[in-house]
Amino acid sequence: MELSQLQGIGKVRLQALHQAGIISIRDLLLVLPVSYRDTTSPVSLAALQTGQSVCVEGFIKDTPRVHYIKKLSVVRATLTDGSRSVPLTWFNQPWMAKLLQKDEHVLLYGKTQTYQGKLTLLNAERIQSKTILPRYPAIENVPNKTFASLVAQAAGEIDSLFSETLPAWLLSRHHLMGYQEAVREAHFPSGKERLNAAKRRIGFENLLLYQLAMRLMRGEHKPGYRVEASKPEKKTFFQGLPFQLTAAQQNVLEDILHDLGSGQAMNRLVQGDVGSGKTAVAFGAMYHMARQGYQSALMAPTEVLARQHLLSARKILEPMGISCGLLVGGMKAKERREALTSIETGQWQVVIGTHALISEGVAYSKLGLVVTDEQHRFGVRQRKLLSDKSDGEISPHVLVMSATPIPRTLALILYGDLDVSIINQLPPGRSPVQTRIVQESKRNDLYGYMKDAVKRGEQAFLVCPLVEESEVSEGKSATQMHAELQRGAFKGLRLGLTYGTQNPQEKEETLLRFSRGEMDILVATTVIEVGIDVPNATIMVIENADRFGLSQLHQLRGRVGRGTRQSWCFLMGEPNERLKTMCDTNDGFVIAQKDLDLRGPGEFLGTRQHGRIAPEAYGVTDLMLIEETRECSDRLLKDKSLEEDKEHLTALAFVTYKKALDNAAMN
Ligand code: ADP
Ligand code: MG
Repeated sequence: MELSQLQGIGKVRLQALHQAGIISIRDLLLVLPVSYRDTTSPVSLAALQTGQSVCVEGFIKDTPRVHYIKKLSVVRATLTDGSRSVPLTWFNQPWMAKLLQKDEHVLLYGKTQTYQGKLTLLNAERIQSKTILPRYPAIENVPNKTFASLVAQAAGEIDSLFSETLPAWLLSRHHLMGYQEAVREAHFPSGKERLNAAKRRIGFENLLLYQLAMRLMRGEHKPGYRVEASKPEKKTFFQGLPFQLTAAQQNVLEDILHDLGSGQAMNRLVQGDVGSGKTAVAFGAMYHMARQGYQSALMAPTEVLARQHLLSARKILEPMGISCGLLVGGMKAKERREALTSIETGQWQVVIGTHALISEGVAYSKLGLVVTDEQHRFGVRQRKLLSDKSDGEISPHVLVMSATPIPRTLALILYGDLDVSIINQLPPGRSPVQTRIVQESKRNDLYGYMKDAVKRGEQAFLVCPLVEESEVSEGKSATQMHAELQRGAFKGLRLGLTYGTQNPQEKEETLLRFSRGEMDILVATTVIEVGIDVPNATIMVIENADRFGLSQLHQLRGRVGRGTRQSWCFLMGEPNERLKTMCDTNDGFVIAQKDLDLRGPGEFLGTRQHGRIAPEAYGVTDLMLIEETRECSDRLLKDKSLEEDKEHLTALAFVTYKKALDNAAMN
């Protein structure tokens, strides 16, 4: 059977599927739902809280009425189930009044919100029967319903297209559902428990294979340049710094120096909150490499960041006698030629740049250390491309710096190919960012506060809400917001605008101008998440804050609080446990742990934040499963009697994650 034989597929949809990488029926069946809308167990009205997506059932109390506010229609009704009555409101759906009758029993699915001071079910959908409905990943031109119908037509092929992937002893030992059954159940859930078993089964396999792939890639014993740091050299470095390293920075630098002296190639991740001083630690490593005659390269995700690193390097490393230079994409031909020569001849001991560092035609001279900053923006492959630039048999040392704190258990999985060090302390003398939740009713006060701050010469970020699949594009929503504010609340102020799909030059230009103080308020999407340093920015406003993961909020908040003045982060939304966590702590690791407790590891393992485990991460919401698969992979690697299974599974792991790694390289 071919995709084109399915009903409902024309030229446009076929092309859309192809573009999404779905070429065959098999590919189609491997696209598993990202979530489910479960209406099998409605929630009692008494138990409702604000901000939930829920299914409820009950009786319509009185005859629903439509009225109009200007051109906007509003339908109001009341739902009761004996335990409580809850108002129902629909905007712009006048037909809902006809769809509901007094005293009728109904099943509704919608989101609870506080509206006019009362818990209300807004724009709820009427559901006919209690089911578990899959939601597939968004593909342009292929609506969810269509996708589900395509999958239904292909369902008969599951048994012939797939075979069991795991050995029988493993299935029984870990109580796992068979593969074909799990795929079927994931697409057509027959009940909550069986769906969970299917997710567990698929999640187990993903995690097991992922860990095997990571361990394979890591290649335990690759030789590296042995670089030993002598006591006097260490002292010179410490004394050359404009500040004293924190104890945490010193410990991590010790980990690194130990790796550099081991004779094996280092593969280390340094995790540290925003502002914890990762750069100084990386400079320490680069300093010692340079002293022994090796070149280092530092790759940053944006040109702005690369330039900032160069400035710090000029301040810190050059006075120690180490020459530093820059290579970025937008250089003039002559400038680039000169840079390439300085790199190739080894005249520059430290090379700082962007992706340009791994482009063709860049040749290094005794490249011994590769540092990538802000890890989640780079794929494993890119890191490898850079280290492949080193000559000869010996691999350069690799140091990865990430500002996204992740609980240790998860770090072991996500970065299975790396050793992990943590900088869990901030340099002294910082005044932490104060965080407040701001309800809609206080918006004008906030705008007033922002205008005052601008008058004092401070700057602000305003992050637009995350856009859901069905809504307009992120760029459009940011553009609209920018226009409205410029006309309205912030008339006369200098507003800037940036978003992900903006052309890269415009983006760089905007960020640069904002950082030079040529703009007062920057309206942006999450593109500003990655470390631009604007010490003069003291206010971060995040719209619809509850839509963001806590770790992401923390990341955004880290854009302010970089100068000496008190900084503020305002989270727009209703107070709840998640947002309150943000007000209570500035410790990224505590926040990450909370995120993990409240939302499970999906948030961390998803593609959004890390681009590591692709959609294959389906079903991974269970910490126990992470532990269980970790033990299982240990066993497979150690137990000699399992040699055959190990070979089969590692081959499978390689094939499965090869694609994910290639994808990561394209991000
Ligand atoms: P991040 O970990 O976010 O990359 P940076 O390395 O950019 O943090 O450091 C943030 C700021 O803190 C920089 O201005 C840096 O000079 C300063 N800094 C780093 N370490 C220390 C320290 N031990 N004492 C005082 N200031 C420090
Ligand atoms: Mg940094």
